[in-house]
Amino acid sequence: MSTNPEFLEVNPLFARPGEATLAPRYTLGDTMMGPDTAFQIIHDEIKLDGISRLNLATFVSTWMDDQARRLYTESFDKNMIDKDEYPQTAAIEDYCWHIIADLWHAPEPRTTIGTSTIGSSEACMLGGLAFKRRWQQARRAAGLSTEKPNLVMSSAVQVCWEKFCNYWDVEMRLVPVTDEHPCLDGHDLADYVDENTIGVVAIMGVTYTGIYEPVQEIAAALDEIQTRTGLDVPIHVDAASGGMIAPFLQPDLVWDFRLERVHSISTSAHKYGLVYPGLGWVVWRSPDLLPEDLIFRVSYLGGDMPTLALNFSRPGAQVLLQYYLFLRLGFEGYRLVQQASQDVAMYLSKGIAEHGAFTLVSDGSDIPVFAWRLAEGHTDKWNLFHLSDRLRARGWLVPAYPMPDDLSDRIVQRIVVRNGLSLDLASRLLTAISEETAYLDRLDGPMPVEEHQPGFTH
Ligand SMILES: *Cc1c(COP(=O)(O)O)cnc(C)c1O
Repeated sequence: MSTNPEFLEVNPLFARPGEATLAPRYTLGDTMMGPDTAFQIIHDEIKLDGISRLNLATFVSTWMDDQARRLYTESFDKNMIDKDEYPQTAAIEDYCWHIIADLWHAPEPRTTIGTSTIGSSEACMLGGLAFKRRWQQARRAAGLSTEKPNLVMSSAVQVCWEKFCNYWDVEMRLVPVTDEHPCLDGHDLADYVDENTIGVVAIMGVTYTGIYEPVQEIAAALDEIQTRTGLDVPIHVDAASGGMIAPFLQPDLVWDFRLERVHSISTSAHKYGLVYPGLGWVVWRSPDLLPEDLIFRVSYLGGDMPTLALNFSRPGAQVLLQYYLFLRLGFEGYRLVQQASQDVAMYLSKGIAEHGAFTLVSDGSDIPVFAWRLAEGHTDKWNLFHLSDRLRARGWLVPAYPMPDDLSDRIVQRIVVRNGLSLDLASRLLTAISEETAYLDRLDGPMPVEEHQPGFTH
């Protein structure tokens, strides 16, 4: 027996002839291991992970049907970048973003421009880069400084925007969330926007609460700023979740290319696009909004291939899965799937609201994601991190975390309802929440608080 963490203990668990008894963890082993043994070790080790279907922290798909799995198995060897070698996969990528451009009301979906990405993060980077480059070109042409670009957004943006600003030297101008303005809604925008503003980010489905930012009101505030100052500031809509919900569940909500100020929109196909990770999409309103000098043309794979991406090689299988779903579900199928998730979210948020110990922060009526906090004065013995721990012991992963500035003293807990969380499972979850809350309420003394780090999965 070795309890040395540097080594992996193999025998006597598998008792296969010729297998090593110890394998180093952090260096490459000297020799080979039987494939069955290697498989078994990893298969067993990941049992310590949470169960993905009960992971209500993640926005990312954890279920697809068997046909999708078959397609995935047939195509996981396809590199998306090999467009000359896999022209049909490349063509299918094109169909997909044209379908999405049409869903988002691009004025001319057939002639606009878009691409697949590894996820929303890369898609947002590309949207941000197009803003920065266009701003630089306009400033240079006018003989003005390009020293200090800034990007305006809510303090509740996803971390990818902090990365964008950090990696590409753009000042991040955060509009704080408050009780009066729980998201970016256009108020006081003039205090944040100036001649160095490359754009404004609007979020369709705020990560912390699931609510939509009113893109139309943000656009109206920017129209007003333009009338007064002449500054023409574009919007990128980070529709990581909402981009594949709003077209189906809130078709009359005007948030997309119906607003002229919206230059680009991104979404995560692996969230409510219903595809396994990792795939995202970004589409521009029209090709002129994407500076041509961000597009590379490479010839060394054969042909002349335009590429706009941060990555080079990337899995192509997810693109095929997206097209599978577009064919399989169509508009009505997507609407039904998303409606089912929303029904479950509304059922759960109603149960939480009626419980008594909690106050809803949102109810799941935008994207099927909602958050709550402890009701004022309910208890001084426990907090939502403790409830999260209790639920984890029963297999449910329901994260608690602090809100962003200016609400960072407020802890909330959130559920992301995805395809695959049935009403039946949801009712068991409500029971678990009730039982664990009752357990915590029965405690004589307070729970310890030192160990509780805010655990926050995007
Ligand atoms: C999830 C999310 C992202 C990042 O998306 P990935 O696909 O995980 O890279 C960006 N913005 C918002 C609003 C998100 O919810």
